[in-house]
Order: sequence, then structure tokens, then C-alpha cells
Amino acid sequence: MKITITKEKIREAAGQAYAYASSLTGGANANYIPYLANVDSGLFALSVMLPDGTSVSLGDASFRFGIESVSKVPTAILAMKQTSPEEVLAKIGADATGLPFNSIFAILLENDSPSTPLVNAGAISACSMVSPKGDAEAKWKAIVGNITDLCGSAPVLIDELYKSESATNFNNRSIAWLLKNYNRIYDDTAMSLDLYTRQCSLGITCDQLAAMGATIAAQGVNPLTRKRVFDASITPKITTLMATVGFYQNTGDWLYTSGIPAKSGVGGGVLGVMPGLFGIAAFAPPLDDAGNSVKAQAAVKKFMQILGIGIMNGDSVSIMD
Ligand code: GLU
Repeated sequence: MKITITKEKIREAAGQAYAYASSLTGGANANYIPYLANVDSGLFALSVMLPDGTSVSLGDASFRFGIESVSKVPTAILAMKQTSPEEVLAKIGADATGLPFNSIFAILLENDSPSTPLVNAGAISACSMVSPKGDAEAKWKAIVGNITDLCGSAPVLIDELYKSESATNFNNRSIAWLLKNYNRIYDDTAMSLDLYTRQCSLGITCDQLAAMGATIAAQGVNPLTRKRVFDASITPKITTLMATVGFYQNTGDWLYTSGIPAKSGVGGGVLGVMPGLFGIAAFAPPLDDAGNSVKAQAAVKKFMQILGIGIMNGDSVSIMD
């Protein structure tokens, strides 16, 4: 079927989805990272951006929150960009674990492999793959520079969050050293873990995440700066990773009910991508039991339902003025 959606319809759908999800209660801020427990749980934002730069921005879309696991998406892109999608597949993998994002058991079950760059193990491994090897500050610059290119503006480190995570990341330390044992860390281990912790502590706005999503949707060209950030061949690879593991152990349920590849983070952010059509982001701190934002999930799902589209539907969708 051919479906044509007007930009007005996009605005309307975003407004309705935002209003619907605003009334939802339930969930709780992540509490295993002290900083996150104290973020105002009433904050809520929804942003959409099209490949031509048209955008919708609702609620607290300029509030800077902890990017957390959503940072796994840009760094996976960076590792693919600096090496190749094939090398990332060989060194990290692309398999859903079906287990929590920070599972040590998953590493053992997957024959000592980090599984995918979108869980903690694979993300630490991806940080170790970033060039130039051995130089923490240059690697950090590459990670932040890549996020800046994807968003069209820079993220800002939330120092308090970084300190809070560094002081409590014992599980991630175990993951990093276990991976080192299996030769899945491709640079200094402590440095790779620290880069991962730092990237999770970057503050990002909902508007910035929507721009990142739109850059992925536009096959690597940033809608705001018109800069080519990555080769078009990376879009299907990163959206595959998002579709298969973006919502932790609830990823199948998510894709089944929402129809959009997306990645969530325990800071309350969700980043969704409809290739060729738009990037969408939502943010609200209270999370469900799997660590996904209650309101952000509801808003993105509602938006997709109102538009009547989905990645698996087989329709030919276009957006017009
Ligand atoms: N920094 C968090 C961790 O490693 C990120 C978790 C997440 O957002 O899924 O536990």
C-alpha cells in the first residue's frame, strides 16, 4: 500500500502522542546510579526530526539528561566507520542476548562473546575498538566528535553523573575484565571501561537525539548541518542492531507492538529511527522493570499507531509538505 503523510499530520500525531503519554503514571527512576535517582521524575519530552530538518519539539525537549545506553548507538556507528561493519560483527557480534543489558551470564552463554555493541559488554568492547588506540583523550574526542556530528551540536558531560557511575560500576568492571580474559578488549581494559562510563554520562537533549535519529534515517547525512557523517551502508546495520536488542530483554515485545527500531537508556531516553522517514526521541525518567522509560515508550508507540506505519508493514510511505 502507498501511504502519504503530511508534515501537518506528523505534528498532530506528535501532539496527540505527547498528550496521551503525559497522563501516564508508573515506573521509577533508575536507582542503581545515585545521580539518576534524583532527576525530576516529572520531566517529559518528545521530539521528531525529518531528513529535511523539519522538526517537532514538545515538553522538556531542551533538558539535558544522561544519555546512558543510547550512547551505544553512536559509538557502534563510530566503530563501524573507523573499521567496517564486518569487523564489528567479527570482533563484537550482532546477536541479541535475551538477557539484561549488564548480564555477565550472557557473555558466557554466547561462547565468551560480547554479543552486540548495544549491550554493556559489546559497548565496552566497541569503546576499545575506537581509534586512535592507546590514547584516552584522543579516543574521547573521537567519541564526542561523532555524537556532535550526528546531532549537529555537542553533548555536555554531566560530571556528577560520571562520578556517580564511576563510583558504582562494579558490575561493568567485572564485564570488562571477563571480556579481557576472552580477548574481546582491543585496547587498554581500564581505559575502555572508563570511556564507556564517560560516554554514558554525557548530557543530551531530546531534540539532539531526534537529530541523531534523523541523521541515521537520512543514511548518514545530518539534516541540520548537511554534513555526511557516515557512509549510507551503515544505516541498515545500526537499525538492525537497534531492532534486535534496543530494548534489553523486552526488544521483541517492543518491535512487535511499536513497529520501530529504537534504543533506550536508563536515563529515560528513547531514540527511534524509521529509515528514510524520520528520527524520533522521547525522554521521561521513570522506568519499567526492564529499564525502559514508561512515558517515552508510550509516546513513541502512540505516534506510530496514529500514523499507521511500521518498519515491517511493507507499505511505501512518503512524507509531503
Ligand atoms: N551506564 C549504565 C550502565 O552501564 C547504562 C545502562 C543503560 O542505560 O542501559 O549500567
